[in-house]
Amino acid sequence: MRKFKEINPSPRTLMTPGPVEADPRVLRAMSAHILGQFDPEFTELMNETMEMERYVFQTKNRQTYLVDTTSRGGLETVLTGAICPGDKVLIPAFGRFGYLLAEILERCGADITLLEKEWGTVFDPQEVEDALKKDSYKAVACIHGETSTSMMQPLKEIGEICERYGVLLIVDAVATLGGTEVKVDDWKLSACISGTQKCISAPSGSALITYNEQIEQIVKARKRVEKGIRTADDVAGQLAGIPSNYLDLGQLEDYWSPRRLNHHTEATSMQYAVHEALRCIVEETLEARFARHQLNDRALTAGLQAMGLTIFGDLEHKMPVVTAINIPEGVDGKAIRGMMLNEFGIEIATSFGPLDGKILRIGNMGYSSQKRNILILLGALEAVMKRNGVKVSTGEAVNAAMDVYENAAKKQEA
Ligand SMILES: *Cc1c(COP(=O)(O)O)cnc(C)c1O
Repeated sequence: MRKFKEINPSPRTLMTPGPVEADPRVLRAMSAHILGQFDPEFTELMNETMEMERYVFQTKNRQTYLVDTTSRGGLETVLTGAICPGDKVLIPAFGRFGYLLAEILERCGADITLLEKEWGTVFDPQEVEDALKKDSYKAVACIHGETSTSMMQPLKEIGEICERYGVLLIVDAVATLGGTEVKVDDWKLSACISGTQKCISAPSGSALITYNEQIEQIVKARKRVEKGIRTADDVAGQLAGIPSNYLDLGQLEDYWSPRRLNHHTEATSMQYAVHEALRCIVEETLEARFARHQLNDRALTAGLQAMGLTIFGDLEHKMPVVTAINIPEGVDGKAIRGMMLNEFGIEIATSFGPLDGKILRIGNMGYSSQKRNILILLGALEAVMKRNGVKVSTGEAVNAAMDVYENAAKKQEA
């Protein structure tokens, strides 16, 4: 057998919409030794994680816990549990991830209706209401921050509409949770799903989920406990069972409850990581964290515009944690990304589908959302654009961003 080298990754500045840099505290927590999954010390950590997760989701939902999977798996878990075959679901899609919801729901056997919007825009809540008037639905499933286009769908009004029509509202907040406001209870979201490698700033590999009592009731009616661990009290519910064992909300609930049903083996080190990432958020406070992302977003946008680049999409609905720039005419986006990575160690992202080759996306998420990163990125991007033949206004970008930071500091002093 040939020899393999020990892992020794190059240092990178991760300015993509995920994965982003993890706080060193999170990485340290991951190297702590393993506890058994039913060790009281470990179950106490699980309980603390649930409590901190409720703070981050701004919810009182009892069912607020982790699933050992990526965000996509979190979406699949909640959708598979809450939506029964044949249920009608309305999906207002305005980018790649909206279509992902449709794809997962089709596999759940849902009867889906897609509302489609041009990439780079969001829905007027009235459009959702008009669709709900026409037909009766069990649920609306939509994306909060559509990472593929950098657009953010306002949800408060849609939440009120869904409540009025007695429809569940299931939301993907994978890209936004922990970076900008996501108010599960206030916005009347029936369920909300997120991940770890974006604004939560831990490695990928865990999904944060929360859902209300209405969904809890559906899950209860679909509950089946495995034969090998079933007790006399575990009578099957009256609805069709959940067609997944691993992503089974019913058994997962019991695993995270005092019953501690023996389901899967919790991913110990990932649990440590999320616990520490959430502790970082609680210490910083949501308010300060959102303000930090917003300030860095303003500096980034000002810098890009001062350079002469244009921002993609409806600016009024741009996510504060992702910015997409239009690739200038005749420029190869791949060459820009490549040079950013190879010469500067900075990773930015391309896009998908109709926007592939048209925009580049810059993340401003979690631990990566730092003044230093924004300034270095702007300086590097200016040089890379110039070397690729783009006529940028040199010397302006970093300066414009520094103005934003200085003005914000002055305002704070005043
Ligand atoms: C990143 C992302 C996902 C997928 O997340 P994974 O952790 O890669 O499974 C889903 N939805 C949105 C909006 C995302 O930004």
